Amino acid sequence: MPNLNRLLEGRSLLKDSAPFEGERATLLAIDPSVGVSGLPQSATGQGILVTGINIPAALGYHYGPKPNPEVAAFLIEGTLFSRFVAAGKKVALLNAYPPRYFDGIDSGKRLYSSIPLAVTKAGLGLFKHEDLFAGRALSADFTGAGWRTMLGFPAAPTLDAYHAGQKLVSLAMDYDFSLFEYWASDYAGHKQQMETAIELMEMFDGVLGGLLDEINDELLVLITSDHGNMEDLSTRKHTHADVPAIVIGSKLAREEFTRDMRELTDIAPAIWKTVMRD
Ligand SMILES: [Zn+2]
Repeated sequence: MPNLNRLLEGRSLLKDSAPFEGERATLLAIDPSVGVSGLPQSATGQGILVTGINIPAALGYHYGPKPNPEVAAFLIEGTLFSRFVAAGKKVALLNAYPPRYFDGIDSGKRLYSSIPLAVTKAGLGLFKHEDLFAGRALSADFTGAGWRTMLGFPAAPTLDAYHAGQKLVSLAMDYDFSLFEYWASDYAGHKQQMETAIELMEMFDGVLGGLLDEINDELLVLITSDHGNMEDLSTRKHTHADVPAIVIGSKLAREEFTRDMRELTDIAPAIWKTVMRD
């Protein structure tokens, strides 16, 4: 992973490497367990990321993958997305969703996961296949290959990993705050697929390379996760491991953003302060 390696100035992506403040990036180890027993789960973890509220502590449990009514209540109450919308900021979830996703939601067979629930409850739309084709959104697999092979769009535009990274930056530059959600690594972790895990990490490194070549100091990028999984393929479950928070941007912005940042609950308030200051 040459790009990650260069970014972390030779350090590996392990807890022992954090905290690290480099020339272009800051690396922190973030606790996703937030003081509540049991393994971190996606609905509550993502809920924390967009609310800053310790939802597992309030409920007494971690929950996922999709939010139950108790978790959903926190997301309906207010999130980063709804607060930015109320403040007149331009915000988006950059993923494009296929028609079958919307069919599933409309028929009641599929529940929103926490992030799209937060987005739609804020009154924002999700990007569709038209947006992917028009270059306004990015495929959840970065490259768009899955739209051709699995989603029935043989003419879907595809990007290599490097250009997907560049695209992510150019899309983000259109917004005050944007989020891109990636979950293939969670699937690979649940399926304990080492070969896929390596492929995904190498693809991520390519994306990172494009992102680093395209980014300027107007943008602050946070790469993090709601929980660990793929780093330990001896179990098909999530892990208790700290998750990395890689922050890329100007040194001053990174220092302010990461101050006192220790667990998932610290991230949403830091984003809130950073975006609202401008
Ligand atoms: Zn999972």
